[in-house]
Amino acid sequence: MNITDLDVSLSANFDGHERVTFFDDPETGLKAIIALHNTNLGPGFGGCRFYPYTDHQAALEDVLRLSRGMTYKSALVGLPLGGGKSVIIGNPKTDKTPAMMRAFGKAIESLQGRYIVAEDVGTTDDDMVEIASTTIHVSGLPEDKNFPHELRGNPSPITAQGVISGVKSALIHHFGHSNPQGLRFAVQGLGAVGYAAAEILLQEGAQLIVADLDQVRIDKLKSLYPQQVQHVAASDILMVEADVLMPCAMGGILNDTTIPQIKAKIIAGAANNQLALARHDKLLKEAGILYAPDYVINAGGIVAVAYQYFERTHSNPSKFDLTQSGMRSHVEKIKDTTSTILREAAQYDEPTGLTADRLARAIFQK
Ligand code: NAD
Repeated sequence: MNITDLDVSLSANFDGHERVTFFDDPETGLKAIIALHNTNLGPGFGGCRFYPYTDHQAALEDVLRLSRGMTYKSALVGLPLGGGKSVIIGNPKTDKTPAMMRAFGKAIESLQGRYIVAEDVGTTDDDMVEIASTTIHVSGLPEDKNFPHELRGNPSPITAQGVISGVKSALIHHFGHSNPQGLRFAVQGLGAVGYAAAEILLQEGAQLIVADLDQVRIDKLKSLYPQQVQHVAASDILMVEADVLMPCAMGGILNDTTIPQIKAKIIAGAANNQLALARHDKLLKEAGILYAPDYVINAGGIVAVAYQYFERTHSNPSKFDLTQSGMRSHVEKIKDTTSTILREAAQYDEPTGLTADRLARAIFQK
């Protein structure tokens, strides 16, 4: 395997990244980049995105941007981890092979624990099992007979729990209470996280307006809660009359076109990179919409995979309680962090995303 450290100082998304390495393995066809943004708090932790990038530069810019985001996310959720991310260039449906994933594990191993991988777009828990055969620095392994432990398995329900904690902080900030009963929530996307978050709110008496491209998921929720769930077309969900808009599908949905049409008073959801551009944070503030920063409230998933990693590798630098209940208590703290961010943003009259970034930097920049 050819291993090359890249000089990325002229890249658009360069932000003082510590190390960025290109791995080229002709034998398996692996072409991957691993980026370590900042490891002041601990090893760089972040998923592997397998994606058919148009060219190497596009892959590089993506991994630089994503690894930076992980530094901020881990810092604010209180993990002893830094920011890292990896990309594999190719089509996951046609190019991925078990041998390629094992080669990628060797690439990770060559960094001697400075980077820990988990799933992202285009990779699955089965891929993590392949990777685990060549490196220990992997998490997101499925729960099965080889990996029986309460911390293993799908992190989405934990992500949903954290999102609801963030939603409740926003409710307190805006309405003075955290009771969802009688409030209207618009949920974009009833996938692994959106569906679980919707169920929590419904059990607490909320009214929901939902949209998904998959009618089966909508029908399932409506059949369970016929009095509380309405649905609209996917093209309309961002504009409906609601107290809270919860983006739980894809990124980039808060932009110049959508923000002026949003009627919700609060935006708080699971989707990553909801702001199309950093300046849309300010636009939301000017529109009088309270935005709970995405990476703050969707950090439950990283807590889940980090706990799994600490348990499996018998490394637990912060002496966390590595049980389901310990993990849930950790994720519950997203409520306090979100409250602090919303309060400080109001106090300094600044957009909430800016406040979150400032508070994160105070933690990881020593
Ligand atoms: P998922 O693929 O299970 O669900 C996404 C859902 O959105 C699907 O049901 C899909 O049909 C629907 N959808 C897609 N486009 C839509 C549109 N235009 N309008 C309405 N619905 C649409 O994904 P997920 O795991 O639930 O993740 C949702 C978001 O949360 C993603 O942005 C993901 O990156 C982010 N996130 C997830 C986790 C996690 O633990 N799964 C953790 C952090 C962040």
